[in-house]
Amino acid sequence: MDSKNRIGRREFIATSAGALVVGLGSARGGAPITNIHEAADKVGQIPRRHLDRSGRKVSVLIGAADWAPEAVEAGILCGINYWHKSQKWADGGAPSTILKNREAYYCEIAVDRVNGNHETGVIDGEADYRFVKDRLERTGLRYFDDMLLHFGYHNVAEIKENRGFIRAYDRLKKEGLVRHMALSQHSYNGNIKVPGGEDRVGILNAVLEEGLYEHAQFAYTFGDTEALNNFVSLAKSKGFGTTAMKTAAGTSRMQADGNFMSKFPAGTTPHHALARWLTTSTDLSTAVIQLTSLDQFVDTYSGAGKQLRAADARAIEMMTEYANREVCRLCNDCMSHCSEGLAIADILRYERYATDYGDRERARRLYAELDRRADGCQVCGDCLPHCPQGLKIPAKLADAHRLLS
Ligand code: SF4
Ligand code: SF4
Repeated sequence: MDSKNRIGRREFIATSAGALVVGLGSARGGAPITNIHEAADKVGQIPRRHLDRSGRKVSVLIGAADWAPEAVEAGILCGINYWHKSQKWADGGAPSTILKNREAYYCEIAVDRVNGNHETGVIDGEADYRFVKDRLERTGLRYFDDMLLHFGYHNVAEIKENRGFIRAYDRLKKEGLVRHMALSQHSYNGNIKVPGGEDRVGILNAVLEEGLYEHAQFAYTFGDTEALNNFVSLAKSKGFGTTAMKTAAGTSRMQADGNFMSKFPAGTTPHHALARWLTTSTDLSTAVIQLTSLDQFVDTYSGAGKQLRAADARAIEMMTEYANREVCRLCNDCMSHCSEGLAIADILRYERYATDYGDRERARRLYAELDRRADGCQVCGDCLPHCPQGLKIPAKLADAHRLLS
């Protein structure tokens, strides 16, 4: 990578949305890794598999453009060829390695609703069309491989009722500016800002059945629901691609929990076991894991495509128990039972950004944008019977408020 895409360490820590903190200490002990080539050598080449019916082969763990430049550079050296949210390279241009060999990489653009956020905004095909053209010019990528509807649909009916995004995609495809269509899908059941909002699994199944989209991204990790696991298996059988997001459910807080780690199996770590599990023990096409350090890139991505050992399998069991006890799985089941209308899942999602992804700045910004924050909780307990994990929701909200205020 040339100097154009390198920025000083101080600068990247200050500016990167996914701020990558170099040198926090090795998860496996020993000196932290701060050299990009050393990191890439330790990870090695990441294997690839088919993404979807397009026949494209992508690395079993993909990369995200909001990683710090050092992590992107190491990922490219390790053969990561699918880059999520590549529109984020708008300010400095895409990495020169990708620009010089454009056809060797798949670069995705995530397109948001306009005139509001993912709950209150609208899908507007004309705005989507203009956004893609603007980001093409600013990134220098010439075309985006995948045009992704970010956050997805609010309910099944909206898939048919609002074709704006699909029309924008068709138009851009005719101009040779995009090649494939995908979506990421959140859950909107119980969300008071989204009347008629539905759970993501029903929406994903409807999208799969309609057959227009080629692959989908969604929050998924160890211990997820039977319904979502069934969708992942069905998608695989139909050649529909699946990418797991928000995979590190509590993984960093586990690593920082001395009591938990004192019983953790020797020879593995939470992030490493997670990478092995995601890439060899599920029906997913691929996944992305959020990182907080170059050292963590090595610890995590070195597990890509490698079978679970006994220690990793035991680790995943322990991690599932921990996550069920401590980490909100963002199912939204509690939300419609809160008379205060608190966006419980959003608040606890931001808590995950701060605690598990090391991205407290983004978490605080998003939290500040909420019109009802966690200190509005009346501790009435009405939500408690509806959390399938039995989380102590009022206490978690109070902790989140302290962390994010
Ligand atoms: S305890 Fe708090 S979050 Fe739960 S229903 Fe009552 S006000 Fe809402
Ligand atoms: S607190 Fe429980 S019920 Fe509410 S979104 Fe999280 S996991 Fe689901």
